[in-house]
Amino acid sequence: MSVLVYAENAAGKFKKSTFEVVSYAKAVADQNNTNLIAISIGDVAADDLAVLGKYGAEKVLNVSNDKLKNFVNQAYASVIAEAAKAQGADVIVLSNSFSGRGLAPRVGVKLQAGVADGAVSLPDQNGEKFTVKKTAFSGKAFATVELTSANKVIALTPNSFKVVESGNTAQVEDFSVETKESDFKAMLKDIVQSTDKVSLPDAEIVVSGGRGLKGPENWGLLEELAGLLGAATACSKPVSDAGWRPHSEHVGQTGIAVSPNLYIAVGISGAIQHLAGISSSKVIVVINKDADAPFFKVADYGIVGDALEVLPKLIAAVKEY
Ligand code: FAD
Repeated sequence: MSVLVYAENAAGKFKKSTFEVVSYAKAVADQNNTNLIAISIGDVAADDLAVLGKYGAEKVLNVSNDKLKNFVNQAYASVIAEAAKAQGADVIVLSNSFSGRGLAPRVGVKLQAGVADGAVSLPDQNGEKFTVKKTAFSGKAFATVELTSANKVIALTPNSFKVVESGNTAQVEDFSVETKESDFKAMLKDIVQSTDKVSLPDAEIVVSGGRGLKGPENWGLLEELAGLLGAATACSKPVSDAGWRPHSEHVGQTGIAVSPNLYIAVGISGAIQHLAGISSSKVIVVINKDADAPFFKVADYGIVGDALEVLPKLIAAVKEY
């Protein structure tokens, strides 16, 4: 068994989820006493590629090609599948990120591989069976899937595996693949938001607001708390529907799924569709003026009170800390 990990970048820089996924793939490789090979597609500086060695990659295949500068689902999947074949890799690991969710099934089809998307822990390889624990039903439950095919694809849920430094620098090799025109039928044009805010899917702390905040004029409090904590801001669906916040911040079944270490929900009722996007958060703090709000049932810590009174006190306390 040999392991290939897809090292995803954003505008030429590796994301935290990439280091997580490489650390995870290294652990899978260790389970099988094999080496870890990483593949990077796009323009990433050689020094940054070599850094993947720190997280366990022995070799990094660098695919730098003008046509592949921007993410193209089908083409990237072809490149990853070809690399897996060329390296004899039978386990392919990627992040269950926005692009990873598109790539995993495509790579699976190309390699006739079973796919475990949304994995949250290392595979159990006891005996003949290869099983993976994953999220199911939009994060409302966990499932264990058995991958019975020779090739296997695992897409790891962000923030579910610790970044582990286990090596040094990796050897970087150029890797080229003939791309087919048919791989470029649907081109995704990257939409880059010019913001220096913490990226929501990658955030370790998320401060999220609901209709209980009354209106966009009160969002400054949420942003101030998020700024102090180094957190990303998020919101419930009605808030983005009302135009108080951009749709890119909407979390839940129909929005983004997050799994931060800390999720602070302010003035959000805790409807099942919202919980679907946040239930794998490690610690949940709820601030709501209604003690019977459903969100309190899944909260680790709760404050019953008016958000507009609680938030200034919380901000003052964090500043003092
Ligand atoms: P509300 O339900 O209005 O709750 C506001 C909360 O704030 C209440 O609990 C209230 O007690 C509290 N509050 C009020 N004033 C204060 C105050 N001053 N201080 C503190 N607390 C206060 N929703 C999502 O979020 N994400 C989704 O992805 C999503 N997808 C959906 C998909 C479908 C098919 C459907 C039908 C619905 C979906 N929804 C989704 C909507 C979801 O059902 C809820 O309606 C929504 O999450 C409620 O948002 P909210 O909690 O901000 O507002």
